[in-house]
Amino acid sequence: MLINPQINNTFRLLLYTDTIMSTSPIKFVNYTKSSISSLLKKHSNLSANTIKQIQAASHVYPFRANNYVVEKLIDWSNVPNDPIFKLTFPQPEMLLPGDMSDVLSLMKRGQSMDETTHRELLRRQAIQIRKNLNPHPAKQKEMNVPSINGERIAGAQHKYRETLLFFPSEAQWCHSYCTYCFRWAQFTEVGSEQQFKSKDVSQLTQYIASNKQLTDILFTGGDPAVMKTKMWQKYLEPLIDESNKHDLEHLNTIRIGTKSLTYWPYRYTHNDDADDFLRLLERCKLAGKHVTIQAHFTHPQELETPECEEAIRRIRMTGANIRSQAPIIRGINDDSDIWTDMWTKQVGLGIIPYYMFIERDTGPKHYFELPLVRAYEIFKDAVSRVSGVARTVRGPSMSCDPGKVSVMGIINDMMILQFLQARNPEWMKAPFLAKLDKNATWLDDLVPHNEYEDSFFYQQELDQMLDYGVSSGQMTNEMLMSHQDLMIAHAKKNKPVLRYKVNGAHKKEQIYVVDNENDNKMRHGKSKF
Ligand code: SF4
Repeated sequence: MLINPQINNTFRLLLYTDTIMSTSPIKFVNYTKSSISSLLKKHSNLSANTIKQIQAASHVYPFRANNYVVEKLIDWSNVPNDPIFKLTFPQPEMLLPGDMSDVLSLMKRGQSMDETTHRELLRRQAIQIRKNLNPHPAKQKEMNVPSINGERIAGAQHKYRETLLFFPSEAQWCHSYCTYCFRWAQFTEVGSEQQFKSKDVSQLTQYIASNKQLTDILFTGGDPAVMKTKMWQKYLEPLIDESNKHDLEHLNTIRIGTKSLTYWPYRYTHNDDADDFLRLLERCKLAGKHVTIQAHFTHPQELETPECEEAIRRIRMTGANIRSQAPIIRGINDDSDIWTDMWTKQVGLGIIPYYMFIERDTGPKHYFELPLVRAYEIFKDAVSRVSGVARTVRGPSMSCDPGKVSVMGIINDMMILQFLQARNPEWMKAPFLAKLDKNATWLDDLVPHNEYEDSFFYQQELDQMLDYGVSSGQMTNEMLMSHQDLMIAHAKKNKPVLRYKVNGAHKKEQIYVVDNENDNKMRHGKSKF
């Protein structure tokens, strides 16, 4: 076994011990839609009718699980209420009643037609339903895709100035799928045509080298942890290669967004290339990059297996950090006790609590969403009952068009909102106020608290950003400043501002900026003709 000579002795000893433990790989057994009936008949007491409905939902939403999830994570004695069961098996209510009865009756018609025709009809029905489910939220296609030398980088998103998201082609799936996944469309036939993905490593390094504002790269997917170590070497080696050192010095942090600690912890213990992967992380660390695993944990039950604990321990031995994040989901983790327990357990295992998200406005949102006010109450209650070291967590946060917006507080009829990340970093400086709305579940449902404003302060700039034809992360200070000056100048003269909307084709529409008494107010107000 090759050991990097720079590793200290204690570390080396632990790695040797671990290598003995991880010499017998555990076989990954993949379960898909066709396994649902037999799995549920074998493990649960669900009625035949419920099983049919779950199968119907799986025609629209992707399903994938594996032997670890089925045998070690789901508590079958607690099904249908078990959180991991709800997390992984499509739930009947994820389909709206009309869609459910359409799919069920089509499933029934299978007895009277040949299999190929039946499958084709189900496929078309599913495509029809998916079209109404907002498959690509938060203008990912229009405003996030960066370009270099006029060429768009299809497998990357550059929304925030410091961070580039990269979607390796080989990571377009996960060890298991989450029912609430906001990238669900990527795993379906409709979405697969629209996937973000790239395997162009030289384009990636060239882009990072020429965008000095970038400090972080986030590998995401699907789940990039499904990639073999050989593939990881292809993507990571150039980032730490001595010959690229000068060009990529500004790249400080390598992030890996993954749910593998929940869905396949053997990736770090028993897979035949587990040790090699850990050594690669360690080499990134030794090359001067901060490595952080952005681990997706939805419920404390995911942290309770010895397999998960062992994987966490081994990752941390490489010098990498693990930060945790998850959305708050009705019926799975919408209880402050769950979050208190989860953050406390995480800190005990050396994980840094990072984000509580609001479920995004896509897919089966009607089933999983809960009001922002409720999410805020749960967050506040949970965070007040953990130690200071767990209060690194932020939220509840919406990843929406302008950035990550968090509910910071509620006073009387006001909701206090603030950016935690923004397309224009300047926006992060100012908290802003919305009218209290107890039913609102997303930023779009909220209106400014000040009744003289018809949109929030960032809206005009956000609309104008669409004009530039580059991802918002690529916008330089000069571009942002000239844009703001332009808005203010127009507002002073009460002149119309042209706004372009990218919506398939370019469309031009005129808006007037309200002529208020000072520049600040001018940037807040607008009226449309
Ligand atoms: S692990 Fe992430 S990308 Fe994969 S299904 Fe779950 S939420 Fe989606």
